Amino acid sequence: MVRDRSTYTGLPRSRINWFPRIDKSKCKPQECGFHCLNFCPFKVFSRVDGVAVVAQPYECNVGDESCRFQCPFGAISFPTREELRKTLRSLREELNSNAK
Ligand code: SF4
Repeated sequence: MVRDRSTYTGLPRSRINWFPRIDKSKCKPQECGFHCLNFCPFKVFSRVDGVAVVAQPYECNVGDESCRFQCPFGAISFPTREELRKTLRSLREELNSNAK
């Protein structure tokens, strides 16, 4: 079954900036064998010109940062939980006020 990833709890996924960032200065794909690409089942990462990139950020599961712990060089980061909570709260408020 293909999951609809365009929304998250009724909120537009494209407005939720939860996805991994790669610190290029720490990323060493030749040493890890592109581990993040192999780990992520949602194809968030891609290999472009020999480097790892976040090609499909909105395919990432909101709140899931498991790939961060897979990177042997600490090159992957995410927004904080508090930043995520703030984003979700403000989107809900915006949608609720638009519905009135
Ligand atoms: S696992 Fe880490 S070091 Fe390896 S390609 Fe991904 S971000 Fe780069």
